[in-house]
Amino acid sequence: MDALPAVTRTHCPYCALQCGMELHAETGTPLRVAGWNGFGVNRGALCQKGATSTELLNPAVRLTTPLLRSRRGAELEPATWDEALDFTADRLSAIGAGHGRDAVGVFGGGGLTHEKAYSLGKFARVVLQTPHIDYNGRFCMSAAAAASQRAFGVDRGLPFPLADVAHTDVILLVGSNLADTMPPALRYFTTQRENGGRLIVVDPRRTRTAEQADLHLQPVPGTDAALAAGLLHVLIAEHLIDEAFIAARTTGFQEARAEAQRWWPERVEAVCGVPAGEVRAAARMFAGVSAGAEDKAENPYGASGMVLTARGTEQQADGADAVNAWINVALAAGKAGRPYCGYGAITGQGNGQGGREHGQKADQLPGYRKITDPAAREHVAAVWGVPADSLPGPGRPAVELLASCGTDIRALLVAGSNPVVSAPDAEFVTSRLRALEFLVVCDVVLSETAALADVVFPVTQWAEETGTVTNLEGRVLLRRQAVAPPEAVRSDLDVLGALASRLGRPGFLTSPAEVFSELAQASAGGVADYSGLSHERLDATSEGPGLHWPCPTPDHPGTPRMFLDAFGTPDGLARFVAVACEPAVEEPCAEYPYRLTTGRVLAQYQSGAQTRRVRALNAAEPGPFVQLHPDLAAVLAVAEGDAVRVTSRRGSAVAAARISDLIRPDTVFMPFHWAGAGRANSLTRRTTDPVSGMPAFKTAAVRLEAALVETAQVETARAETAQ
Ligand code: SF4
Repeated sequence: MDALPAVTRTHCPYCALQCGMELHAETGTPLRVAGWNGFGVNRGALCQKGATSTELLNPAVRLTTPLLRSRRGAELEPATWDEALDFTADRLSAIGAGHGRDAVGVFGGGGLTHEKAYSLGKFARVVLQTPHIDYNGRFCMSAAAAASQRAFGVDRGLPFPLADVAHTDVILLVGSNLADTMPPALRYFTTQRENGGRLIVVDPRRTRTAEQADLHLQPVPGTDAALAAGLLHVLIAEHLIDEAFIAARTTGFQEARAEAQRWWPERVEAVCGVPAGEVRAAARMFAGVSAGAEDKAENPYGASGMVLTARGTEQQADGADAVNAWINVALAAGKAGRPYCGYGAITGQGNGQGGREHGQKADQLPGYRKITDPAAREHVAAVWGVPADSLPGPGRPAVELLASCGTDIRALLVAGSNPVVSAPDAEFVTSRLRALEFLVVCDVVLSETAALADVVFPVTQWAEETGTVTNLEGRVLLRRQAVAPPEAVRSDLDVLGALASRLGRPGFLTSPAEVFSELAQASAGGVADYSGLSHERLDATSEGPGLHWPCPTPDHPGTPRMFLDAFGTPDGLARFVAVACEPAVEEPCAEYPYRLTTGRVLAQYQSGAQTRRVRALNAAEPGPFVQLHPDLAAVLAVAEGDAVRVTSRRGSAVAAARISDLIRPDTVFMPFHWAGAGRANSLTRRTTDPVSGMPAFKTAAVRLEAALVETAQVETARAETAQ
């Protein structure tokens, strides 16, 4: 390998903003991280997670050798690579031979690079020949993806650059707390308001993002579709719809109108808990009535507007319908398909967008192709050098796949995911993983899921490897290697290549640049067409605005803004989707009288497998807590920091009380980053959205009580889960 440079420009290991960062290698000192000013998305800003990310490279916190459990009940012990690979190949082969190829499953992650995600999908379909592959992005973005496909024919998180936000007159931001989840993005919203724009935030909590809003709607969790229908009702009733746009660029309005007629503001107030006056005010503001935008001489397009959604509205049992209800609002107001307008989803994981484009989703092949499409199968099979009819069909979405473990799925390969903490109804999922005959995990750290495995492969992470990701704007980025990995650590690509050889499929590509080149070929002609991209081209263009897909030829400039001329549907028209707007929640009852919603905090990330190992992040946010309103705290007779037991029909969790009037009195909030006694996902539901397979993380009925443990014991639990 060539010598690594003193300064490497790359991107953050965590969220979908993919902030540009510089890694400085100075002799005798640990790698130092700084913001990369030349990268236009974050312009040098990093949040606390990115700024401390080099701590993940410390050999003391990461895995440095393969681990093997020789028999159930035995401890994981260090092993050589050959021992671990031989053992894994033998077990996968024996289980496949004894119970059929469908007895082996694969579970990937939205943080994997394109190269790893693509190879994992190819490994499942070509080497294991199993249909059962899905990934944790199902928990993150699937509802928005399904809704975008229904409305626009294409799913790309944001179909415009994030910077467009700053020039938009009105933004309706639903279920996102990006002030905490991706702080550098907030500057675009701040600039938007400085430019005279208006911001409407929909969130059951008054978050730091909501505090910036001109109007904050605080609905009962899980009632978003009804609230959106209420806004559409007002737009129609007050003649604020854009009839010319609807006629020229959409279909299906009459059906959506019929549903909206049932949701007059007073009924919305009764169901959603949002005052009718605020429903009317939000609709008028979004239409531009009060934005003052009509007078803006510098804006030739009139009042512009965006609807942006995130997990708050998506992680529901009707997640896709709820998102379509919000998209209907954008379409009715004529705020799509023109500059500074449109709908976008704020992706969560680092490669949550790309991870679902290139084949680790149960129903997809590379290029965002459908695995059920005969032409797509022919194309991808030809690239892979196998007959199309040898490719399996669609597998099971994530929740179903995990629930099948220990029954018809007897072996599972997990890469870059920690479902013991991140999956809904996590105790049930843990029991299913324990029931497997064989569990193999590729990860950087010994996560709670890896700790259950029979074999653990220590794999390279962001700064130790070169690879590509796609950020929330559909911008494809090259992450460059900055340091050599520890000696006994290998890439997931090497693991898959070595297993493929042992399973009778030699020649599996392991060079990231070569894998990307094959991926580009496999994506050619697909919805997410990367065929004009290469590592070399991404390296050469990384200082500029970057290259957004689709990018079908080597001289194509990429597509920063989609849908300006036509939407991605066969007829080029956007679709209103007439969805039922009745809430699909677990209703509170006498036994479980409150509502639980879950989410993230600034200083931790996803299942916490990485961030709980970073000292500064643990110091900032050391353990689980439950946010509750002072009125509820008074009912429970608990004070700040007291231990509170939260119980649902699935299980219970104990966490410290954090008392705040920023949340509804009927709702409590828990972050989901911790394992052990404070694991929020011990409480959440496995119920999924029938359209997308998204679990209903955001709505569970719970009861609360002062826990019969001392606060000191909660602190002990915090310390344990931080390990
Ligand atoms: S906002 Fe996201 S990408 Fe940027 S530094 Fe923080 S975690 Fe990393």
